[in-house]
Amino acid sequence: MKIEPKQIKVREVFDSYADNGDDGVFAYGGRLAIRPPYQREFVYNTAQAQAVIHTVLKGFPLNVMYWVKTGNDTYEVLDGQQRTLSVMQFLDHKFSVTLDGKQYYWDSLTDDKYNAIMDYEFMVYICEGEESEKLEWFKVVNIAGKKLSEQELRNSVYTGEWLSDAKRYFSKRNCAAKNLSDKYITGDPNRQELLEKALKGICEYQDIKEITEYMARHKSDADADELWQYFQDVIHWVEKIFPKYFSDMKGLDWCHYYNKYGKKEYNSSKMKDEVKQLREDDEVKKKKGIYEFLLCRDTDPFAGRLLNLRTFDKRDKIAAYSRQNGICPVCGERFEYDEMEGDHIKPWSKGGETIPENCQMLCKNCNAKKTDKY
Ligand SMILES: [Zn+2]
Repeated sequence: MKIEPKQIKVREVFDSYADNGDDGVFAYGGRLAIRPPYQREFVYNTAQAQAVIHTVLKGFPLNVMYWVKTGNDTYEVLDGQQRTLSVMQFLDHKFSVTLDGKQYYWDSLTDDKYNAIMDYEFMVYICEGEESEKLEWFKVVNIAGKKLSEQELRNSVYTGEWLSDAKRYFSKRNCAAKNLSDKYITGDPNRQELLEKALKGICEYQDIKEITEYMARHKSDADADELWQYFQDVIHWVEKIFPKYFSDMKGLDWCHYYNKYGKKEYNSSKMKDEVKQLREDDEVKKKKGIYEFLLCRDTDPFAGRLLNLRTFDKRDKIAAYSRQNGICPVCGERFEYDEMEGDHIKPWSKGGETIPENCQMLCKNCNAKKTDKY
């Protein structure tokens, strides 16, 4: 990892400054991406931007900025985006500052003040190295500076055509991924949370351990079609399996369910009735668990745990214990109350309810060996 400190004049940075909206903001002769395409939007308000100009005019230092070297002589701002944009936007006639009670745009400043801005030097650390090194190092820098999300950090390292294309789908409020998945998947696309979820999903699907590994493998791909296709497959699968939508479906780990159960056959019209039934069942305390329960109950003997089914309260258990004289009905041995557990005589799955008449006490050992788990 190489970190080279450099003082760069505002005049040089402002050279060929261009704000291309969604296509990014560039400067420094076109070699610096202040904001790469589809990145978080400018968030300083005017008062904050004016404060930056006042600092510059007084010749006071702004904090150190970090640029990442992305090519032979190309860079991307990792830290310092807002400060750099403030100066650029002032010089681009986007706002004015107040000096001695009067408003000044850049072109009404006196020459010495104008030159004070243009000759002001940004203190920039230019970072160059292996991607994994950069990522580790950025995490450290991040602690001191602004808070980038994990995925924003990864994006600052694994740049390239693949990433630009992935951001087209997964970044920004109105992106295609948000529109497609909003009913099912939570996450702020501006903070790259949707992209992160899709990546996490596809990594599990392809048995890849780290998101960075996937990004490293694909960073030079011409497009992110594979990831986008995967994400669409997930959502379309959910819509097919559970054709009726309920708001508690939002925020579940659908990518994970798709990876795990996507190849199994389900009868979706039957599932639809069962979702309805389970939602109305008072014994089911965790309604959000219904969907995975229906996906896995044929293969997972413990699927009932997903529903957080009602259990017997202490009063019912003490009554059953004294009724049984402390004898476990399975092994016939006598136990202390604390050595036993409440059990449904007729299990929930066969229509048994959590009522005193359906309660029995089993010793812990016998209870653990029970095959009817719920
Ligand atoms: Zn027993």
